[in-house]
Amino acid sequence: MITVKALIIREEPSGETSKNVYALTAERGVIRIYVRGGYKSRKNSAATQLFVYSEICAEEKKNPRGETYYYLNSAEPINLFFDLRLDVYKTALSAYLTDILYYSRIEFASDKNDILRLTLNTLYYINEGKKDRALLKSIFEFRLLCDTGLRPNLIGCSQCYKYEDEKMYFNMYSGDLKCEECCNNKESLVGFVFDPKMLYIVRHIALTDFERLFAIEIAPKYQKQLTEFTERYVKYHYNEKFDTLLFYNSL
Ligand SMILES: [Zn+2]
Repeated sequence: MITVKALIIREEPSGETSKNVYALTAERGVIRIYVRGGYKSRKNSAATQLFVYSEICAEEKKNPRGETYYYLNSAEPINLFFDLRLDVYKTALSAYLTDILYYSRIEFASDKNDILRLTLNTLYYINEGKKDRALLKSIFEFRLLCDTGLRPNLIGCSQCYKYEDEKMYFNMYSGDLKCEECCNNKESLVGFVFDPKMLYIVRHIALTDFERLFAIEIAPKYQKQLTEFTERYVKYHYNEKFDTLLFYNSL
């Protein structure tokens, strides 16, 4: 039997009344848990709903192929993030963010606890509704990819080490920056141009200590560019098309 704190990021029906849930944990990344009678049982239903953070007791079993399965024993909610279900924007955004998580390779994270902390904090702020949703979305998209092995080299020009320039050219394919002088492919289809302010913002999200990560405010003009950049970064690295993003953006 294991006891873990876990955030439910996906539910899938299994048979008439049961379900599988996918849960993000600090110790094991994303695990799949079978919840017998999950749609009927009063006892565990609140604690195994999408977006709920719970303490979960589960039995661990291995099949002959060595794959691990978990069977729910009991679950106790820690935070229901209740308001995420009351507002269509909040629901849609949370659905998109948990969707990216489901397709992320959490096993590549150097510290899985970072991923859980990033997700819980983002959902906390969305739930609370005081911070700008577009900013929360961008922070989550970019930092999640950074923390799962896709942090680009933003320290300076990869050729001459220049720290900043009027324009710096970022390439999604190589994941590096070039200054005006060193960049010989300024029209690249997988490129993105940063002015000094934009470069400061993306460096902040990629590199700053977690404690300061959400302590940033961005003017609307830059938020627009940042949204375009982080969405493109996700799109470039995931072949999945996220219907949840299309839905969120259609609202
Ligand atoms: Zn250079």
